[in-house]
Amino acid sequence: MRIGVPKEIKNHEYRVGLTPDSVLEMTAHGHEVVVETKAGVGIGASDADYEAAGAKILSTAKEVFDAAQMIVKVKEPQAGERAMLRPDHILFTYLHLAPDAEQTADLVKSGATCIAYETVTDARGRLPLLVPMSQVAGRLSVIAGAKALEKAHGGSGTLIGGVPGVEPAKVVVIGGGVVGAHAITMAIGLGADVTVLDRNTAVLGELALSFGPALKTVYSSRAALESQVLEADLVVGAVLVAGAAAPKLVSKDLVSRMKPGSVLVDVAIDQGGCFETSRATTHSDPTYIIDDVVHYCVANMPGAVPKTSTYALNNATLPFALALADKGAKQALLDDPHFLPGLNVIGGQVTCEAVATALGYDY
Ligand code: NAD
Repeated sequence: MRIGVPKEIKNHEYRVGLTPDSVLEMTAHGHEVVVETKAGVGIGASDADYEAAGAKILSTAKEVFDAAQMIVKVKEPQAGERAMLRPDHILFTYLHLAPDAEQTADLVKSGATCIAYETVTDARGRLPLLVPMSQVAGRLSVIAGAKALEKAHGGSGTLIGGVPGVEPAKVVVIGGGVVGAHAITMAIGLGADVTVLDRNTAVLGELALSFGPALKTVYSSRAALESQVLEADLVVGAVLVAGAAAPKLVSKDLVSRMKPGSVLVDVAIDQGGCFETSRATTHSDPTYIIDDVVHYCVANMPGAVPKTSTYALNNATLPFALALADKGAKQALLDDPHFLPGLNVIGGQVTCEAVATALGYDY
């Protein structure tokens, strides 16, 4: 199969659909890969790196779309890219169609086979192609929080790990899923005093076994949450209620009673945020202060580290991309009951129930 990798064109998107290592896997399987020139600059991969992996470099996205049978991307196709899709194209990328009627209409009109990373499932009912980005965001949350604790950034001037003879910062992680577990890993690694709250006791049990006595686990009742937040130097919001907006677990009133110079990092901001005082921020202006509490609420945290994010994403997506290339879309999807939910649109039909329901398509 001929696989095409265009340069991402969404604002501030520096990731790329396939790394040179992934291209090498594709070419080793006998496939051809065409890559738009400079597609890899954001991750430090040059055209020469792609050529060394066996790719052919093309000068425009149009040439890539014209030549390819399958397009592998990161972000949803933008209007200009959607106009280049054909009925014989396979598109494999993040789509997030439910809130995006315009994109869905264009994909339906294109007739292409459109497979979304975010709806592929695994045997545990998780979303394996979202996991790498949660891992990145979880780890970054503690780095961002530690920086915000510095005086120059509005924080209390507390070093997250302390030093011998001086107590470390108290870090409270709300939600012990993928983001939470990776935030805990970083916070413990930096020497902080770490507590996690979750309302799922099985999650708390697994975390207690993984981290041992270095981690305190607390059931997320209203009262426990309040007392933990009031004692915290850094709170990481990492909750998710599937298919719903994030619950507002920390009220405006509670924020106003937190220690001056403490920090809130709301990773759940992409689902509306779990602190009442949260509003989405950007990497160029990531924090603001309310009631002497520093808020960090960047909605696309993995965008800060496109190199790590691209490699982590490729580790998860490559087996599926290879299956599509080796077997063709129909066989690859039919062979794997967890890959099939990834199919969102095919031949002018919406095939994802959540998208069809949200946007009024027949399903
Ligand atoms: P996850 O499903 O793995 O974990 C969520 C956890 O929250 C679960 O363990 C659940 O039991 C817990 N939870 C739910 N309600 C709770 C409550 N009231 N109190 C305590 N715990 C509660 O999800 P995840 O992959 O870790 O993602 C967490 C959030 O981070 C999501 O909103 C996700 O969209 C977001 N996210 C944001 C970015 C970003 O760049 N800002 C990047 C990746 C993920």
